Amino acid sequence: MTTVVRVSIPLKVDPFDYSIPENLEGKVEIGSLVIVPLRNQKFLGIVTEFIDSSPHKLKNIYEIFENISLGEKYVKFLKWVSDYYHLSLGKVLEFALPIKQQKHDKINHPPKKETYIELTESFNATLAMNSFSRFSQKELIQYLDSEKRVSLKELKEVFKTRVKTVLPKLEELGFVETKEVSLFVTPQTSLLPSRPNNIHLTKEQIDIISHISTYIEQSKSYPYLLRGVTGSGKTEVYYQLIKKTIESGKNALILLPEIALTDQTVAYFLDLIDFSKIAIIHSNLTPSQKSNYWYQIAQKQIRVVIGARSAVFAPVHNIGLIIIDEEQDHSYKQSETAFRYHARDLAVLLGSIHSIPVLLGTATPSLETLYNVSQKRYSFGNLPQRINQMPLPEINIVDLKEKDIFIENTSITKPLYWALKEVVQKKEQAIIYLNKRGYHGNLICSDCGYVLKCSSCDVAYTYYKNDNKLKCHYCLAEMVKPNFCPQCQSKKIKHLSIGTEKVMEELQTLFPKANIDRLDRDVITSYSKMAEVIRKVKHNETTILIGTQMVVKGHHFPNVTLVAVLLADQALHMPDIRASEHAFQDFVQVSGRAGRSEKKGQVILQTYSKTHYAIQYFIQQNFDKFWEHELEWRKALSYPPFFKMATIWVTSQNELLLRQAVEKIKQYKPSKAIYSQPSEAPIYKIKNTFRYLIQIKSEQPKVIDYELTKLLHFINSLKLSANIDILVDRDPLSL
Ligand SMILES: [Zn+2]
Ligand SMILES: [Zn+2]
Repeated sequence: MTTVVRVSIPLKVDPFDYSIPENLEGKVEIGSLVIVPLRNQKFLGIVTEFIDSSPHKLKNIYEIFENISLGEKYVKFLKWVSDYYHLSLGKVLEFALPIKQQKHDKINHPPKKETYIELTESFNATLAMNSFSRFSQKELIQYLDSEKRVSLKELKEVFKTRVKTVLPKLEELGFVETKEVSLFVTPQTSLLPSRPNNIHLTKEQIDIISHISTYIEQSKSYPYLLRGVTGSGKTEVYYQLIKKTIESGKNALILLPEIALTDQTVAYFLDLIDFSKIAIIHSNLTPSQKSNYWYQIAQKQIRVVIGARSAVFAPVHNIGLIIIDEEQDHSYKQSETAFRYHARDLAVLLGSIHSIPVLLGTATPSLETLYNVSQKRYSFGNLPQRINQMPLPEINIVDLKEKDIFIENTSITKPLYWALKEVVQKKEQAIIYLNKRGYHGNLICSDCGYVLKCSSCDVAYTYYKNDNKLKCHYCLAEMVKPNFCPQCQSKKIKHLSIGTEKVMEELQTLFPKANIDRLDRDVITSYSKMAEVIRKVKHNETTILIGTQMVVKGHHFPNVTLVAVLLADQALHMPDIRASEHAFQDFVQVSGRAGRSEKKGQVILQTYSKTHYAIQYFIQQNFDKFWEHELEWRKALSYPPFFKMATIWVTSQNELLLRQAVEKIKQYKPSKAIYSQPSEAPIYKIKNTFRYLIQIKSEQPKVIDYELTKLLHFINSLKLSANIDILVDRDPLSL
């Protein structure tokens, strides 16, 4: 009988073998979390394999940790991840398990309970108010009416002693209920419009729901792109499918691109499932909140996991459905730490391991996903209309090359000024969108709109102020900044960049009486600050909201009638092969914020590049043509999705050691892939770290695997100094 197992331990590169003591025989399985001895310490690890025998004398496993097994399929998933990203299983585990090392690092805290007041079905605001005489009491009822669900703590904070006089009476009338909820993350109640109860599904929705339901019932692997225009009722499709999943006794995972959207999503699902059965996972949780949720999931107490990118590692048992909302969003790709996974791609993989449907929802699919659809790897469905039959907003382009178009000394054009003025007068709301991705701007001729691009890569150059040079992030070519525009000889070559702060000042001068607010990473340093800005917009306290990518994502602001893209060129000419794709997606997303209820919306897009295909197809709302154009271009230049890429970073704080290491790595002889020798990164030094990069490209993922394995093996054999870091970025989204 086999009694030897291989155990992977977080942080440790190599797995270790242990024998199973008599008392645990028959209880240990692949995926079991176990406590094992290692160098006089106790470690937590996961059983990854049963092996026949071992030549060494082995130590015993101490115990199975809290009777948890994450299952064989979970181990299979982790192993695949480790292989694909060329990262040791121990490193992957370190990331996937929030419980670190020793057992003493206890995670089993009892969940905190909180009291919530909720309106019942029979609640009637007029009747309720008539039961009280004082204005202050009526005020409390109004508050309840607008919030629908509010924590007792919050209610007491706002209304103090009035709570004592009003609540018991309301309970007696059967208008409210008190609920004890174990809650690790308190959703911002003011952000919680619950799911409307008068929903009528459209025919398209019904068809898609019943189609995917069959795959949930039959447990079949089925990646499915659900494309729906903004406001077309994708969330309701999610809701109905989660309902089916839960009814069939299975559990679900929902991935969201933005932490700010979790509360909104939780609220929407609350009439389907109780708080206590939902786990929320994102980077804003404290370590103890994280491990509490993780523990509940591992102990099979959770039905629905809702979270950002890292939630893809939640060990959801008996999983029946995965939903990825806004699948094109960059935030699904980890581009900062050593483990650069893509949560969307991993979710699709997870779906195939578990044989379940994976729904990729979006208004603007990524090119990768569309390509997978065209290759018949993913299926596809469409929600072509807004749910309330509201037309999509009207789009107006303002050509920045026109003479005297700007209000003097501002980045606001006259047409935008008049549109804003109307919004202010009508007491509606406007969103001003600025793209601020990346840190280096590019150069544009403000007379003719010409953008300086690398001729071999067709990607905008990045301007480096310090040495007055232009560099290409792809082929690493560089040139001195020209003094004249190559197209029209104008001297007005400008550095494209506008900051939110400056725009805020300009608008405050132009509209001194309007309430203007900002939503960007500079001012939003915490979750609560963000929630507060969003609350003010929802409650109509803000007239003009200036924001970056954060405002684009999924919010429903019914009173917003005007959306302006202040400088479309910032997105269009990012030094990135995905610049046009991202710009197009942003335009569609941001314009989707306009006119979401009865009032018709308007979009104003200010640009120097009126004739750019992304803008032209956006005006025509011709998504298919845009994607066709973009795919052709990518194919012609051997870019993704046709070619796969991997970047290997060689970095160090010690420049001399790094250069020596790079010289040695240059001896490497590539075999099959398109290989670029190590060269200085376009941004050579970041935070005192010097950086070289190697790029590998091929049409075949297998070839990339082969080359990466060989290269890393070679680098390993060089026995480089410990001060040199090697990092693999598979399918990089940024350099
Ligand atoms: Zn020019
Ligand atoms: Zn180039």
